[in-house]
Amino acid sequence: MSDARALGVLQRVFGYESFRGDQQAIVEQVIDGGDALVLMPTGGGKSLCYQIPSLVREGTGIVVSPLIALMQDQVDALTELGVRAAFLNSTQDWRVARDVEQAFLAGELDLLYVAPERLLTDRCLQLLERGRIALFAIDEAHCVSQWGHDFRPEYLGLSMLHERWPDVPRIALTATATADTRTEIAQRLSLDDARHFVSSFDRPNIRYRIVEKNEVRKQLLEMIRTEHDGESGVVYGLSRARVEETAEFLCNQGIDAMPYHAGLSPQVRAANQSRFLREDGVVMVATIAFGMGIDKPDVRFVAHIDLPKSVEGYYQETGRAGRDGLPATAWLAYGLQDVVQQRRMIDESPGDESYRRRLGQQLDAMLGLCETVECRRVRLLAYFGQQITACGNCDVCLEPPQAWDGTVAAQKVLSAVYRLWKERGQRYGAGHIIDILRGKVTDRTKQHGHETLSVFGVGEDLSDTAWRGVLRQLLAQGLLTVDNEGFGTLALTEGSRAVLKGERQLMLRRESEKKTKSGKTGSG
Ligand code: ADP
Repeated sequence: MSDARALGVLQRVFGYESFRGDQQAIVEQVIDGGDALVLMPTGGGKSLCYQIPSLVREGTGIVVSPLIALMQDQVDALTELGVRAAFLNSTQDWRVARDVEQAFLAGELDLLYVAPERLLTDRCLQLLERGRIALFAIDEAHCVSQWGHDFRPEYLGLSMLHERWPDVPRIALTATATADTRTEIAQRLSLDDARHFVSSFDRPNIRYRIVEKNEVRKQLLEMIRTEHDGESGVVYGLSRARVEETAEFLCNQGIDAMPYHAGLSPQVRAANQSRFLREDGVVMVATIAFGMGIDKPDVRFVAHIDLPKSVEGYYQETGRAGRDGLPATAWLAYGLQDVVQQRRMIDESPGDESYRRRLGQQLDAMLGLCETVECRRVRLLAYFGQQITACGNCDVCLEPPQAWDGTVAAQKVLSAVYRLWKERGQRYGAGHIIDILRGKVTDRTKQHGHETLSVFGVGEDLSDTAWRGVLRQLLAQGLLTVDNEGFGTLALTEGSRAVLKGERQLMLRRESEKKTKSGKTGSG
């Protein structure tokens, strides 16, 4: 019964021929009054999962969404299709809000989008009591996860919906997908009887590539010019300053780039976002403040110029590329300084020990992905609990990296760090350690008499690039750490001992020398 009505709405209202993936099962579950927890990758088609039941069931579908900036767009798109949709949020004139409320009470709305903080006000709850509700859709449901990167405290209040309206079906949706997050969402939203729908998270059209960072802006420019000239893309950087300088650099090089970060005024942000959505070939350089809920099908590349903090965040961000199913690129440049910087940020972050440990684990998983000699997609999807075979469409599959026995090299690094600390009480950053190993006489080595150290010059056999690779991988594997005192100086860890004593063999990923010398990223 429900399937015929649902299919009718899909075809008549939305103009699509058939359901995709789990859509039909999800829609039927909700139409029949059941709860659902939906995990679907970005671009998978989550919206229809609550829009269609809202149209089929009697009453109004209430959509809880944190994306105030996008509500107008969503409502406009639905209105164009003849769906009676509206929103309530803080940006609205009170007279407009009053009209929306009246339309809801008169049963004239199919869908009503509400921000969570608005929904939880007494006024709004009383309004909802007086009208007829088809369902509650909780979009971006991972915002309820306190460990997640998008935590919104207001989301915690949403478990109340079930107590107040026990007979109204609820559907929670997210593109974030680890088993942990799923359990947390179900718990916090009291979705005890919900059916779980977990889609495949594979996005086969996205080519994953992780390159060694050297001159990152040049590398980025080269990637854009050779592979995505004149196409739309998003470049993610860690800080506002980074975003500003990179956008300016790209503009100076003739690329139509714009910045987006929380430090810009709401007007500038809205204008930049709107240009990105409506025009072709615009590159948005942004912090992670940009992107949630953005539905632009033809984003051809997503580039990260700094290491993301977690695999979950990274996968969500890269998932914004190639929603139309056509080939797209996810490109990440990462280097030694990223590891140093992120480890330091974790040490300095507020929060208790267990919070920092969790951040550390997330970073480790991200580093594991960067340093892997196994298919990137196999790694990524394993993180989300899905098993696949090697994809043939990532840098590792296309140009398998070589592994080499780096045990002796690692011992040289670790003993240099050890000696400087034990014999001189000194700690240094990566650059100086490498100078010592390579026997490079500098002002600093002269000043501190480092030429007399027994490790001075023991590493002339490897290049700067190779040494940076060794240090980076030692840091990534936790065999070397960043000193708590700050300034990016290096120190030994518990794990260093086994390597120093020769009890542990260390296979490392070989750096590509040719890339660094020319400052290029290779053909990839
Ligand atoms: P998500 O919210 O999961 O990121 P959307 O709901 O925005 O994804 O859908 C992504 C795109 O796929 C949209 O352009 C949408 O119109 C399209 N889409 C969704 N379902 C179908 C379908 N059954 N057939 C064709 N296109 C669809």
